[in-house]
Amino acid sequence: MKKSTLTALAAALMLPTLALAQTHAAHEHGKVAVDIAVERQQLTVAIDTPLDNLLGFERAPRSATEKQAADAAVTKLRAADGWLRIDPQAGCQLQDVTLESGALGLGGAPAEGEHADLEGSVTYRCTDATRAAWIDVGLADAFKRVKSLQVQVAGPQGQSKQTLSGKNRRVVLTK
Ligand SMILES: [Zn+2]
Repeated sequence: MKKSTLTALAAALMLPTLALAQTHAAHEHGKVAVDIAVERQQLTVAIDTPLDNLLGFERAPRSATEKQAADAAVTKLRAADGWLRIDPQAGCQLQDVTLESGALGLGGAPAEGEHADLEGSVTYRCTDATRAAWIDVGLADAFKRVKSLQVQVAGPQGQSKQTLSGKNRRVVLTK
């Protein structure tokens, strides 16, 4: 076999591994993927969660009760200051919350199959986001079906991963 063929073969074999590594937000009930990006004057918290975690069902609401539950969950998430708390050292102010969920009519990809997700992005303007030593993510308090948070942080100090479960709400940003 020629070397170029071997290289091509190796590349082909590598691809699925890479693709897997990037889909960290696998749909698993009880778990929420949380991506935190720290820049100088901006801090972003992105979440990706199965709808089941928020509602106990994963499709468009069918009854008045379900519609009410969905509206309540969306309202709660939009009020991000209620479930996110950032170290006051950073001087952050809530700027914007965007939510996407096809099943809830919030835009984004339409729900396919039995499992639907909600993706959200919360943006803060900060005096200096790099001064934040911690962020409390209270999703498990806001939504009882949330059992653990798979957190990824990207900032000036590089990238890190943390898993929060039980009573632990605190993402540590500095070492
Ligand atoms: Zn599901």
